[in-house]
Amino acid sequence: MNVNEIARDRVRILLGMARVIVNSEPVLSKRYVELARRVAMRHRIKLGNKLFCKKCGVVFVLGDTLAVHISGKTRVFACLGCGAARKVSAGRSGFE
Ligand SMILES: [Zn+2]
Repeated sequence: MNVNEIARDRVRILLGMARVIVNSEPVLSKRYVELARRVAMRHRIKLGNKLFCKKCGVVFVLGDTLAVHISGKTRVFACLGCGAARKVSAGRSGFE
């Protein structure tokens, strides 16, 4: 196991823990996201924009911290923590 694999594993574990405690311990959950982002940055791991809110740092859980609206041909993914919205054309894949 090389350093990059260990880092990838850490990011996965941190985001998983953040997801589990997002409702009970929101502050700690954001801290886990912050740590995951820092590890990913140092090891150049791409996280994409589907895992957490880039604005407020809350981890995305559909229904809890993420809402999806459809308006016309556009899907709007809204963060329920801060209200930041991201629009995705309905033809393209968005959040899984
Ligand atoms: Zn947010």
